[in-house]
Amino acid sequence: MPPQSGFTRLEPLPPRGRVHVLGAGPVGLMITALLQPMEHLAVRLYEKRREYTRTRMVRLASYLVAESVESYRAGHFDAENIEAVFDPRELDESVAFRRSIPSDLMALLREWAVGFCPLNQIEQSLSDLIDARTSNPVHRTAAVVATEDLVAMLEPGDILLDCTGSKSLLRDQLVPGSSEVNGSANTLNIRFEYALVITFLYGQNYACNEVCKYEKNRENPHYKFIPMVHRTHYDGSISHVTGIVNISADDYEAMPTRFDGEWLRNNFPDVARSMDRFIEKIKQETHGEILGYLEIIRIPLNLYRARNATSREWRTAGPSDHPFARSPVFLLGDSAIGSPYFQSISLGFECVMFLAGLIAQRDASQDMLDRYESYIYKQWLRVYMQSKMIKNNKDLFQLLDDPFALLDKLHIY
Ligand SMILES: Cc1cc2nc3c(=O)[nH]c(=O)nc-3n(C[C@H](O)[C@H](O)[C@H](O)COP(=O)(O)OP(=O)(O)OC[C@H]3O[C@@H](n4cnc5c(N)ncnc54)[C@H](O)[C@@H]3O)c2cc1C
Repeated sequence: MPPQSGFTRLEPLPPRGRVHVLGAGPVGLMITALLQPMEHLAVRLYEKRREYTRTRMVRLASYLVAESVESYRAGHFDAENIEAVFDPRELDESVAFRRSIPSDLMALLREWAVGFCPLNQIEQSLSDLIDARTSNPVHRTAAVVATEDLVAMLEPGDILLDCTGSKSLLRDQLVPGSSEVNGSANTLNIRFEYALVITFLYGQNYACNEVCKYEKNRENPHYKFIPMVHRTHYDGSISHVTGIVNISADDYEAMPTRFDGEWLRNNFPDVARSMDRFIEKIKQETHGEILGYLEIIRIPLNLYRARNATSREWRTAGPSDHPFARSPVFLLGDSAIGSPYFQSISLGFECVMFLAGLIAQRDASQDMLDRYESYIYKQWLRVYMQSKMIKNNKDLFQLLDDPFALLDKLHIY
């Protein structure tokens, strides 16, 4: 969209422009690590947590380290979506950007795209890498940042990157006046379902596929334990298994946030039976044992996006003294888009790479905001299509033993 007259002008970037990165989760750390080597920037990183304690195992997508467009499009559901949404030129640029990533950072990404890794290890490694670099040190602040702090500290030309996660600090303030009217005016949220995410370690090699999911759930009429193939990984001695059981909204409300297998057996025996039956069949087949405890959390599976992922609306609203009208604001990672089936870090890193490429061009113009909005929208379409496909397949899977209910759900033409 070309700039229109009457817009508040964005200040040109000063010789050494300040970039404020709010939140040092994986996404905030990744953008910091990419911007830090850029001589024209002074990066400031703000984080409220003192330690990285999230030990859940996560997997990053292989497209993050793709060396060609073909390998970028390797994902099962993803290939056609990518082709439909992105121009060939964009894909070329995306792959070319990967080649410019500093080697210390690329080595880490390659490691994380192979197997599983604890989330806090990703965070700690990125944090250590940033601190170990001798040139362009990053100014770090350990504090809870509030909107008022930002309004007070923003200087013309500063860039503000909101990486504060799913409860984003700024998402619903990017539309002038919206936060006073409706606290979620800038958020589109699609509630897919509620689920238990069950994680355990298993002492043998367990490889899952769709037939295995079906066979091992035959005696589970209602609740079904569904391992996530891409989150089940054998590291040579132990299998890390993560599965989901769909639950109702009432079940969800009646459960604590986090509990173990015993709690589930005592309080929701039907749900527990589906999980235990499934695990028993794994044991019969592969003669192994569960190591340690079952870790269970209940979560709503939400697919959401910020309708505006930048401060563009502040600028187009006309002349204003508000700092967001003069300094560009960008949402990154879970602040901008959240997907229910856990591709989120990779998606966040994708957007980080694109924005780092834009910032490298030293241009804080309206065009930069428009290009980022357009890119985020395309990533949204990609993740929306992929998530809908997975959800649809899951719904059909639940009905495999009931052909009429299955047919009713199909709606062909
Ligand atoms: C059970 C589970 C399993 C998952 N598995 C995977 C997986 O396998 N693969 C995957 O890609 N994703 C997975 N995810 C999702 C993934 O964890 C998130 O997408 C990712 O953590 C988002 O990163 P982020 O940096 O955008 O936000 P966050 O990780 O939420 O980080 C935000 C940071 O901002 C800080 N912060 C927030 N507000 C403020 C403030 N006001 N002032 C200062 N600091 C602030 C927070 O302390 C935090 O450090 C999983 C999620 C769950 C719940």
